[in-house]
Amino acid sequence: MFSISKMAAGVQPSATLAAGAKARQLKTEGKIVYDFSLGEPDFNTPKHICDAAYKAMLDGHTHYTAAAGIPELRGAIARWYKRTYGFEFSPEQVIVSNGAKHSLHNALAATVGPGDEVIIPTPYWVSYSDLVQMTGATYKLVPTTEASGFKMTAAQLKAAITPRSKLVMLNSPGNPTGSVYSRSELEAIADVVVETKLGVISDEIYEQLVFGNAKATCFATLRPGLANQVITISGVSKSYAMTGWRMGWAIAPMHVTKAMGNVQSQETSNPSSISQYATIAALDGDQACVEVMRKEFEARRDLVCGRLNALPGIRCPIPDGAFYAFFNIEAYFGKTLKSKKITDSTTFCSAALETVHVNLVQGSAFGAEGYARLSFATSREQINKGIDKLADFLQG
Ligand code: PMP
Ligand code: GLU
Repeated sequence: MFSISKMAAGVQPSATLAAGAKARQLKTEGKIVYDFSLGEPDFNTPKHICDAAYKAMLDGHTHYTAAAGIPELRGAIARWYKRTYGFEFSPEQVIVSNGAKHSLHNALAATVGPGDEVIIPTPYWVSYSDLVQMTGATYKLVPTTEASGFKMTAAQLKAAITPRSKLVMLNSPGNPTGSVYSRSELEAIADVVVETKLGVISDEIYEQLVFGNAKATCFATLRPGLANQVITISGVSKSYAMTGWRMGWAIAPMHVTKAMGNVQSQETSNPSSISQYATIAALDGDQACVEVMRKEFEARRDLVCGRLNALPGIRCPIPDGAFYAFFNIEAYFGKTLKSKKITDSTTFCSAALETVHVNLVQGSAFGAEGYARLSFATSREQINKGIDKLADFLQG
C-alpha cells in the first residue's frame, strides 16, 4: 500500500495540459471541438530541423550525452544570445533540459526551498505556483490589472519584498496575457533587483513572437553585472514549433548552472541527444521560418481580437506578444447561457466546452478570475468557426 507524499499531494495537474486532454477525449468520441486551450503552435517543425535530427540519428548520435547538453548546442545557444542581444556568457553557463518547464523546475530546485519565498506577478502561467511549491518554498502573488497592461511595476515589486524573498519570476512576453514589458519598465524593475539583491528567473520563451512595435528584452542584459542575479529561461518549443522535441535551456551564473546540472544528472540525465542536434539546426539555420510563423500569429491576433471585441459583453485587450488572447467575461457572471448557470471563469469555460464545444482555459487557473484565455495557435478557419460558436453560446 502506498500513501501519497506531501509534495505530490500538494501538486495540481497542469490546467493547460488538462484542458488539452479534455479536447482530445471529446475528439476521440467523434465530437468536433474548437480547441483554443493549449499554447502549442499548429505548424509542423520546419524541414531543415527535422533533417538535422534524422542526420543525427544516422550519424550515431543516439547515445547518452553530457548531462547538461552537448558543448556544440551550448555553444550555439551562446552564439544566438550574442547575435540577438549582445549578451555574452560562457557556454558552460548554459544547461539544456527537457523543455523550458524542466528548466524552470531545475532553476527553482537549485535556488529555493523551505522557508524561502518567490514573488510571482499575476496573471501568471499555471505551472509557476506548483513548481515553486514542489521545492517546499512558498509563493507570494502580486496582482496586476488590465489597466496597467497586466504588468507589475517596480514599486509593486519593491513593496512585495520581505526578508524571506529569494526570487521574482518574470515572463515577458507573457502567458496568459501576451503582455510585453517595455525596456524602461524592465529597467526600473532591474534597479529594484540590483538594490535588493533579489534573484530573478526571467522566462523569455515567447521572445521571438512579438507584434507591431513591441520588442522583447533580455532582462539579464539591462544593467552591468545584472546577469549574476538572473537565470534566463527559454527554448525552441514556441518559436520553432518544436513542443514535442522537449528542448529548453537556462543561462545562469556558473555556480547555479552547476547546481542545476547536478539536479538534472540525478533526475533525468541528458535531454534527448537527437533533439539537441535538431536545436542546433534551429538556432544556427535560416531564421525565415520564425518570421513566417510570427507574421501568421500576428494576423491571427488581429482576427481574434477584432472578433472577440465585437461580441457583446466581451473585452479583449490587444496582446503584444505570444499567442494568447486573455479576455474579460465578467459581464456574463450571474447569467444563464444554454441552460448553464455562469458564476465564474471555470463555469463559463466548462459550459462553453459542454454546449458549443469551444475549449478555453479559465482565468482563475492563471490567478485572474473574470477572464478566459484563448490560444490562437490554431488556423484562421478554426478561429472563425470557434468564435461563431462562442457568439452563439453568449446569446444564451
Ligand atoms: N514558460 C511559459 C510561459 C510557457 O507558456 C511554457 C509553455 N509551454 C513553458 C515555459 C514551457 O515550455 P516547454 O514546452 O519548452 O516546456
Ligand atoms: N505552455 C502552454 C500553455 O500554457 C503549453 C501547455 C503547458 O506546458 O502547460 O498552454
